[in-house]
Parts: sequence; C-alpha cells; structure tokens
Amino acid sequence: MDSSHVEHDLVNILFTEAQIQQRLGEMALQITEDYEGRDLLVVGVLRGAVMVMADLARAMPIHLEMDWMAVSSYGSGTKSSGVVRILKDLDTDISGRDVLIVDEIIDTGLTLSWLVNNLSSRSPASVEIATLLRKPEALSMPVEPKYVGWDIPNEFVVGYGLDYRERYRNLRDIGTLAPHVYS
Ligand code: 5GP
Ligand code: MG
Ligand code: MG
Repeated sequence: MDSSHVEHDLVNILFTEAQIQQRLGEMALQITEDYEGRDLLVVGVLRGAVMVMADLARAMPIHLEMDWMAVSSYGSGTKSSGVVRILKDLDTDISGRDVLIVDEIIDTGLTLSWLVNNLSSRSPASVEIATLLRKPEALSMPVEPKYVGWDIPNEFVVGYGLDYRERYRNLRDIGTLAPHVYS
C-alpha cells in the first residue's frame, strides 16, 4: 500500500469495521426494544458521531427523526480546553420528545454532562445517551450513558469519525496513531 494512505498511520487497531458493525447492531436491538412506539429523536454530536449515527440509525427498524448539534470542548489537539460552546444548535423543538444523544466517545464526560443539562432544560420527555466508546475517566463525571459500545483504555484513538487535527475520520477501523504522526 502507498505510504501516503491514511491506514498507514495506524499502529494498533482496537476495533475493526466488522466488530464495530456487530456491536452497533447489538446496541440498535436494545434501543429498538426500549423505544418502540415512542417518539424518538436521535441527536448526533458533530462531527465525530457522524459514522456512528449513520450506522446505528440504519440498524434500527423503527420510526425516528435525526437532528444534529455541534459543540466544542476540544481544541485542535488531544487535550480538553474545559470550555463547552454551542456551534450549531438543534433545528428541532424537543419539548415532550424522547431524545437519544448519539456520540462516538466519552472521555472526561465534560461535553456530554453539559449537553445533557442543556437539553434537559428544554422540557424533553427523556434524555439518554448512546456512545460507541467510553474511557475510564468518564466514570468520575456525572454522565451515565444508557448504551455503551466498549470501555477502552486511556489512549487517544482515531478512525470511524474520531479525528486527530480533523484527519483520520474516514478510517473504517478504530486504532491508535503511530508516534511519528505526533512529531
Ligand atoms: P469529553 O468532553 O468527554 O472529555 O470529550 C469529548 C470529545 O473529545 C469527544 O467527542 C471527542 O471529540 C474528543 N475525544 C476524546 N477522547 C478522544 C480520543 O481518544 N480520540 C479522539 N479522536 N477524540 C477524542
Ligand atoms: Mg463526539
Ligand atoms: Mg476531535
């Protein structure tokens, strides 16, 4: 393979495309059971959750609506700034709706604990979280995702929506980057 190909920078694959699809299928089954007959609005958190949202939503054979929010809590690198800002708000009035926030990873939990508080103040019927990945630090924040794909070690991962400086989102697998990428 050409060394300029994006896969070349991954050293350690944590989850393959097949594993991700299988796990999302299991999560979708659970969500489908829980929300059948309800008024489900799935809210994807841009930009990282795009892939999870696309695959999770298509694995659920029930009526649902999708909307998107963009919030920023991270700069361009790998460390949290501690500040959350709305960059793009929902287009949907969520009062009385069953809201399921879809995200790709919970690290410190700062973003989602803030987002849950923000959405809860808009009088929804319910607010829950589905996340593909969760890091151990999240346990110290008041965030309780109802659906979690996997708990992972405290490493910076990319792929399947997860970026490093806006790159690597288009990888099909999830893994860690070679040290040369950071230098
Ligand atoms: P938190 O607010 O939970 O600390 O972080 C939320 C956001 O930080 C995630 O939605 C994601 O954009 C980014 N983030 C946290 N950990 C990772 C990681 O391991 N890899 C990547 N690419 N982004 C991460
Ligand atoms: Mg995210
Ligand atoms: Mg990012």
